Amino acid sequence: MISKFMEPRVANNSVIRQMFEEGKRLAKIYGAENVYDFSLGNPNVPAPEELKDAIIDILNSEDPVKVHGYMSNAGFEETRQAIADDLNRRFGTDYKWENVIMTAGAGSSLNITLKTILDPGDEVLVFAPYFVEYNNYISNYGGVPVVVSPDPESGFMPNIAEMKEKITPQTKAVIINNPNNPTGAVYPEPVIQELADALKAREQELGTVIYIICDEPYRELVYGGASVPHVPNYYDDTIIGYSYSKSLSLPGERIGYVLVPPQSDESAEFIDAVTIANRISGIVNAPSLIQLAIARCTDAKANIAFYEKNGTDLYNGLTSAGYECVKPSGAFYLWVKTPIEDDSAFAEELKEHNILVTPGSAFAGPGYIRISYCVAHETILNSMPGFLAVAQKYFK
Ligand code: PLP
Repeated sequence: MISKFMEPRVANNSVIRQMFEEGKRLAKIYGAENVYDFSLGNPNVPAPEELKDAIIDILNSEDPVKVHGYMSNAGFEETRQAIADDLNRRFGTDYKWENVIMTAGAGSSLNITLKTILDPGDEVLVFAPYFVEYNNYISNYGGVPVVVSPDPESGFMPNIAEMKEKITPQTKAVIINNPNNPTGAVYPEPVIQELADALKAREQELGTVIYIICDEPYRELVYGGASVPHVPNYYDDTIIGYSYSKSLSLPGERIGYVLVPPQSDESAEFIDAVTIANRISGIVNAPSLIQLAIARCTDAKANIAFYEKNGTDLYNGLTSAGYECVKPSGAFYLWVKTPIEDDSAFAEELKEHNILVTPGSAFAGPGYIRISYCVAHETILNSMPGFLAVAQKYFK
């Protein structure tokens, strides 16, 4: 018999995954080329060539006992050093290898960070719309997600005024995801500065520590000159959860890290605790071969121009058909207002044209759909007649 904890989680199994399964079913009926599946954020750009070369070279030249063996639960020192060096070059910081703890991707980075800081009943603020796995990640450790409402007028920037009101003595952290899934928005420096100032003031008033947990799997996927501020340079009590799943198209490899900046609260104890959390979560350590490959490829880059073209063409096509969309500045998602209130019903209408999108309600953002544009360019071009047919019903 499954546990009471798991029962509701099984019942509410991810809408995104269900759409993905639906895509496979439709592809069997209509042929894969006639189904336009925009449901999953699975990068379709191949991982950079140098990564493959690095893996082959490591297998051919390094000691197999090292390559496939256990290492420190926080990862290989050389990988952690290479990442610290890369961050220091890019963000003017002074991280040591100890500040970087290798993980099995962003999901793991967030879980072990939350395991490190949460006691039952502690609250974690999330800004709607958001990646709803956060609810599970927080409740895994007895935490309570507190949702801050969306702010469409600002282009879905974090609603800082409401955040301030929702902070209580139980608030342990605020999660931000920049660039954002599902909106494609990038929070610029003034927004991060305002967020940092507001949290510093609340920390002082309450005499508590409130972490900003930065969920940054899309950090390198930015367009049109947007840039992602390095939050520890604005706010001391920041923890970064990074992943190479999206930036280097490696979601199946399960590789990322937690960055614990030296200026954050009790950082040495945090590093020990998060490393133990990694071990006792059963992950033990991040996969070894890909860790070694990452150490050699911190400069590798995804084909950002491909995503940018997809995003621009989709945005231009849909806005000229009458849809209201957030202009994509990062990640690979387009956030589109639905012409009817019921976003699930609207997603069903698109499905009649073999277009699969995710209803915004799956991200606590009703009245919108998310279109994931990490797809072949032809998928975007060939889906346009379907989007136009539905648009003609609602827009002049
Ligand atoms: N956070 C966000 C916002 C995501 O979109 C995803 C995956 O889609 C994750 C975390 C999990 O990423 P990973 O595959 O690295 O665990």
